[in-house]
Amino acid sequence: AKRQPHFFTMEKTTIGTSLMNAEMELARAVVSEAARNAELLLSHLLGLRRHELFVSPERLLTNDETKTLNDLLERRKRREPVQYIIGAAEFRGLEMELSGATLIPRPETELLVDEALRALTATNAADIVIIDLCTGSGCIAISMATQLPEARIWATDISTEALVVAKRNAKRHGMADRINFLHGDLYAALNGTGLERKASLILSNPPYIPDDEIQRLEPEVAAWEPRGALAGGHDGLVFIRRIIAGADSYLANNGHLVMEFGAGQSGRVRELAEE
Ligand code: GLN
Repeated sequence: AKRQPHFFTMEKTTIGTSLMNAEMELARAVVSEAARNAELLLSHLLGLRRHELFVSPERLLTNDETKTLNDLLERRKRREPVQYIIGAAEFRGLEMELSGATLIPRPETELLVDEALRALTATNAADIVIIDLCTGSGCIAISMATQLPEARIWATDISTEALVVAKRNAKRHGMADRINFLHGDLYAALNGTGLERKASLILSNPPYIPDDEIQRLEPEVAAWEPRGALAGGHDGLVFIRRIIAGADSYLANNGHLVMEFGAGQSGRVRELAEE
């Protein structure tokens, strides 16, 4: 009898072999960081921590696990971001749940939180009032809440779907009663809060990519992340302009506005702020 070509058989594979195969498959599909992605998907699938994969590389996967792993790999090969597939990303050591309605928190945005904390060092802890515009997954507001136990925090978003995720994240980290989540278009969400001239800090990582540039970004971003969380209008500055223009009415004396913007935008943003 002829031997069956092995790709037609359902062979049991070990964690070690699955990892290797997954990495190769992802690399062949030009997914960057193939090894790390393979580890993330496999540990998500098995409910293990990443390092635990290497503790029992001989453990066999069940047929169901192998099948599900293939599904996850197919999604990743279609360039769906690994964070959406596993439904989470880490931000300043806190796990944030995500959905397709929320931007994936970026490591560079962690620096925004560092800047914000620095800006508040001269403010009396009990007097701190923070507004986070475009909160998305809530990552910024929630990390501020964990760092500043006395601060009062308002977080807004125009996407009700994002707010559902943000509230879940706040709850998960025990910050639900610390943050007021409000729905609306930038400052319009704050109508009726009485926060005018009260904010020690306005924080935002607004959408700031020029509309035409989005299609040129990697498929993970262009095809999968919510356009509303990325697109900043023709010059990328539409929201930044509105945030700067409205800041004056909400900032207290000596209040700070801390915003993220694009690498090439600092000159324009400085001009807008000076105007
Ligand atoms: N504030 C969220 C973040 O920084 C969402 C930002 C956005 O959607 N533009 O990840």
